Amino acid sequence: MTDQMNLNLRYAGIEYDDVANGIGLGAVFFTQGCPHQCPECQNPQTWSKDGGMKFTDSVLDQLIQYYYDVPYASRLTLSGGDPLANPELTFNVILKFKSVFPYKKIWLYTGYNFEDFAFNVPTTDNERLIQKIVQLCNVIVDGEFKIDKRDITLQFIGSSNQRIIDVQKSLKANQTVLWNDMNGGNA
Ligand code: SF4
Repeated sequence: MTDQMNLNLRYAGIEYDDVANGIGLGAVFFTQGCPHQCPECQNPQTWSKDGGMKFTDSVLDQLIQYYYDVPYASRLTLSGGDPLANPELTFNVILKFKSVFPYKKIWLYTGYNFEDFAFNVPTTDNERLIQKIVQLCNVIVDGEFKIDKRDITLQFIGSSNQRIIDVQKSLKANQTVLWNDMNGGNA
């Protein structure tokens, strides 16, 4: 456990046995704090950085234990709030998860646009941390929820402007590559 765990890191909740926020079965870890404030957001209680619950070592232990108990759970999804607005917490959760389960997948939902944080040369500690997070992800769903583009027929996203991005292929190509489960997406 790092010293960063001693910061007042807050999270909104954990949902187990999820099948809607990524391929296969997994857990969704909801971070606390979101600057986007999309109209008709389904989780406005996650907007305030001071809301939610205090994150502790035992919360992380419970999350890890779920994957021991349910070994066919194949991925962890970070959602929010916006996980990239709370990068210390997000990085610690993902780093711990990957250190225990290196072959399980990471999906992450963010209201930011992928190109705005994935490829730039980082100039601040915050940007460096976000790029470390990106490097550990398999799939990132990006973009704010737009009520005028809402489409309930779309899988994994709420509005048609959002994109499902194959992170590792994108980093290799140095450009955004959309994830396609039918065409070589392995996440
Ligand atoms: S990014 Fe997500 S959590 Fe944040 S306001 Fe938009 S829909 Fe809500």
